[in-house]
Amino acid sequence: MTEVLEQQKAGEIGVTRISHWIGGRSVPGESGRSGPVYNPATGQHTGEVDLASVAEVDAAVAAAKEAFESWRRVSLAKRAELMFNIRELVHDRREEVAKILTSEHGKVLSDALGEVTRGLEVIEFACGIPTLLKGGFSEQASTGIDVYSIRQPLGVVAGITPFNFPAMVPMWMWAPAIACGNTFVLKPSEKDPSASIWVAELLKEAGLPDGVFNVVQGDKTAVDRVLEHPDIAAVSFVGSTPIARYVYETGTEAGKRVQALGGAKNHMVVLPDADVDMAADAAVSAAYGSAGERCMAVSHVVAVGDVADRLVAAIQERLPKIKVGNGLEPDVEMGPLVTREHRDKVASYLDTGREQGAKVVADGRETAPDGNGFFLGVSLIDDVTTEMDVYKDEIFGPVLSVSRVDTYDEALRMVNENQYGNGTAIFTRDGGVARQFQFDVQAGMVGINVPIPVPVAYYSFGGWKASLFGDSHIYGPEGINFYTRGKVVTSRWPDPATSKVDLGFPQTR
Ligand code: NAD
Repeated sequence: MTEVLEQQKAGEIGVTRISHWIGGRSVPGESGRSGPVYNPATGQHTGEVDLASVAEVDAAVAAAKEAFESWRRVSLAKRAELMFNIRELVHDRREEVAKILTSEHGKVLSDALGEVTRGLEVIEFACGIPTLLKGGFSEQASTGIDVYSIRQPLGVVAGITPFNFPAMVPMWMWAPAIACGNTFVLKPSEKDPSASIWVAELLKEAGLPDGVFNVVQGDKTAVDRVLEHPDIAAVSFVGSTPIARYVYETGTEAGKRVQALGGAKNHMVVLPDADVDMAADAAVSAAYGSAGERCMAVSHVVAVGDVADRLVAAIQERLPKIKVGNGLEPDVEMGPLVTREHRDKVASYLDTGREQGAKVVADGRETAPDGNGFFLGVSLIDDVTTEMDVYKDEIFGPVLSVSRVDTYDEALRMVNENQYGNGTAIFTRDGGVARQFQFDVQAGMVGINVPIPVPVAYYSFGGWKASLFGDSHIYGPEGINFYTRGKVVTSRWPDPATSKVDLGFPQTR
């Protein structure tokens, strides 16, 4: 046990211990390693998370493997019923988990509730699993021969998730995976791990059999074991691009199916005919919501032609009105960043931008609330060019950059030449240009006068280029395909067919 955990056990310090969840119960870690969890609004060390050893990952996978044999036999009707129970429980208790999110991640409570609502949509989609797994049937494909297709679960599948959506992103994975008949091992972010245990307890309460959903807390050691474990069939990853690339390469090398969603630099193109107030409202909401710690945040505005001065002025005018503070307070609109180190790194881009020739219009260090919280106020950098680090890097904080270009073609080229291709948006009143943009732009999710075009749950979510490694987007129809594999049966029955009399009413269970 680490020194901090020993002090915690002895009652000398008041931190909460966050452990693993294996085979339907909480399992304290025995690796001797743990990591700190903070309340980012106060800077307080509030928790200590166990970091799994290889043996602890193996124990979770063994529990999932054992549970798979019976879980895959559970009828679609029962699986659907269970998903409905889960949906009801998450919905009824969403305020509980929202508070956990705010106290470990920092996002404001209304945003945390929004995160849970978007995750719930994916659970609701998974309630339709009987329909989603329907196969095809061809009668009399040849004389006396029928052909049909079915989709079956893969076995044990794993999810590795980022800090910025500790409830929603795991829901993107476990809800479809479990509904499809797989068992699941989650490795959440070590920065805000408590939501994973809240979910594990809730799934048990909803009636999910032990071992179907497991959690291993941890860091690279746990991730590497997941990637090489022979009993894990598939891995879903969401996080930064370098780790996504590593997870994809290592996991596929070990023979696994992998979908790995990476980082982003989401451009919002504003044409001269756009409604400037609407574009400014959208840019401010999408850049600073959740302190910019969203993979679909608008982090870069491309102002085309003479709209630039009007747009920058309209954005600037809105900044002083944004209330920054502890996300548990009702009127606060933007909370802190997740850790002190991350806040300092994000803030350093304001200096880098200035040194490289950009114009810092708003420096969030000057407006950050006092205290020990990991705060940075809203920041705006104008006159940014494509060689600057503030443009090239994913900053992942409340820093919005602006480039000025002369034509639509230049704007399109900028978006398409960027290494990332997660989301993008265009603001214009011209339907023809918007349609051309949708046709030409190299990104997985496109908004037309919509700044954060996260697809609804019955479509799939995913980027292009360095924002996604693998063939499959996440949730929606592609999620169902990812967590299942196809089988085609060709069948011929002897004549006379075997039959018996059964006057009972046909049952689905
Ligand atoms: P991260 O890549 O640091 O961590 C993601 C996961 O990988 C965590 O569980 C972490 O423990 C693990 N990890 C970290 N370093 C590792 C290493 N060296 N080896 C193995 N595993 C490692 O990402 P983050 O900081 O938690 O999240 C923010 C990033 O996630 C941003 O880049 C953001 O754009 C991205 N993101 C992308 C999407 C998307 O859908 N494309 C959604 C949310 C977040």
